Amino acid sequence: MNEMKVGCQSDVSEVHETTAGETANGERFSGNHMFVIYPMLKEQKDGAGSMMEEENDKNTRLAEWIHRAKRGFRLHERSLAEGAWTLFRLTQPGVGVGLLSWTRLIVRTPVEMGVDRYSASSKEMTDTVKNAARRYGAGAVGIAPMNQAYVNLQEMGKPIFFEDVDVPEVTNEKFVIPTKMKWVVSIAIPMDLDLLEQVPNENSDAAVALGYMKSVIVVSALAEFIRSLGYQAIPSVNDTAQSIPFALDAGLGEMGRTNKLITRDYGAGARLCKVFTDMPMEYDQPIKFGVTEHCKSCHACADACPTHALSFDDEPSYKTKGPWSNPNHLAWFEDSFKCFQQWQKVGNGCGICLAVCPYTKTRWQGMHS
Ligand code: SF4
Ligand code: SF4
Repeated sequence: MNEMKVGCQSDVSEVHETTAGETANGERFSGNHMFVIYPMLKEQKDGAGSMMEEENDKNTRLAEWIHRAKRGFRLHERSLAEGAWTLFRLTQPGVGVGLLSWTRLIVRTPVEMGVDRYSASSKEMTDTVKNAARRYGAGAVGIAPMNQAYVNLQEMGKPIFFEDVDVPEVTNEKFVIPTKMKWVVSIAIPMDLDLLEQVPNENSDAAVALGYMKSVIVVSALAEFIRSLGYQAIPSVNDTAQSIPFALDAGLGEMGRTNKLITRDYGAGARLCKVFTDMPMEYDQPIKFGVTEHCKSCHACADACPTHALSFDDEPSYKTKGPWSNPNHLAWFEDSFKCFQQWQKVGNGCGICLAVCPYTKTRWQGMHS
């Protein structure tokens, strides 16, 4: 394995050319393409990982593991994950409603208070929003320009449009993002690496669940914060748009062989979320700190993947492995069908590839040295 340093500021440079992860032609992609996997799993009646077989076996197997107190699957470990999933599950399927509302929930606006909306230099506006995001629980925060190519064509069966309106709209027929929303606050939520390291079991599932829980807290609170300053805000976790390309443009990390973001601050051990807004801020720049180059000779994630879902190719390319992937970006594409089979088998998200990545491990070692 190559020598590397992680999170060393002097190794980080801003980039302006196309790198792994950037879109090739700017076409929008339906985020719903991911869901072709569910019918595929349902159709697969036989064999290890088939949905029918695993759904039938899962509860029996889990009950047996709890009964014999299998480490990582004991009742209190299972309950840790269940409790952590509560908040995110309560938002589902809830794009545009509840905590993920596209319009004001409860805060008072400057108009209601009889004052002018918040106004400052773009640098101060940027610092104000980034500081608030961190107070609410964000780890790394960057600002990217809105790019319509990263926004899903549809969500929950309804099209997403960009229109010249003042306020975001959610109707029975469509979602509308105001064209004036030109700023995206991209956020990385650090995962609990002590839990993630135990992949794949209920504790690592709790690490994922906690990431989602904190994402909901941060984006909903930040959206209300921005609205109380007098601007519009749309909170988003995995819905509405792809989080990774915005995080790349916001300078939070680089693409890895996993076709996931390797963040500068937390390696692969981070969840991504974002808030769209019309509040003017300074854009950050994409960064390079050696990840994509390192991945060309490191195959730790692909070696560790139990279903051989990850690519061993020397170079990233535009060759996808199935309709779930957006072909408009340069990547090491994964076989998500095989990956989901593994998820079915272990009864929750797998995440081995995130935990074994040396960028994640270095961060974990740093925490415990
Ligand atoms: S989550 Fe597990 S099955 Fe999926 S790509 Fe990573 S290691 Fe492989
Ligand atoms: S494990 Fe190695 S190849 Fe995989 S994403 Fe991390 S650095 Fe890249």
